[in-house]
Amino acid sequence: MKETEFPVCTGKAVAFPSGREHKECPWCETSLVCEPHSFVALEAGCISSAPEAAGVGQQVDSKAFFHLWWHGAHDGGEGVYPGREALLLVADEVEGGQFRLCFCSPDCLRSYLLHVVDCLEERVRSESSMRPAD
Ligand SMILES: [Zn+2]
Repeated sequence: MKETEFPVCTGKAVAFPSGREHKECPWCETSLVCEPHSFVALEAGCISSAPEAAGVGQQVDSKAFFHLWWHGAHDGGEGVYPGREALLLVADEVEGGQFRLCFCSPDCLRSYLLHVVDCLEERVRSESSMRPAD
């Protein structure tokens, strides 16, 4: 796995991995994904009721997002990492309202999602500024 840069989908980049041919699994980088190979896709976004809307990248007036947000306890609230706040944008402002993340196997999807959660937790742990009291 290469160094992860977030968001993996944004703007006109509606698929991860992007590119047209010989797409490698973005997690293991050894197996190929997308047609005609085996793969699992995490697809998310909105579905328009407009008749011309047909699929990923084809919605018209919408942008998709996939965020993980850590909200730390404050003002008497309880929980781990109190007073901290962190945001991880896995996908953000994806034009067309839908995006797709493809992996070669359920194991790679599982590992990637765990990695995403680990990245959020790392941000929470490294967050030096405490949330202002409100
Ligand atoms: Zn893989």
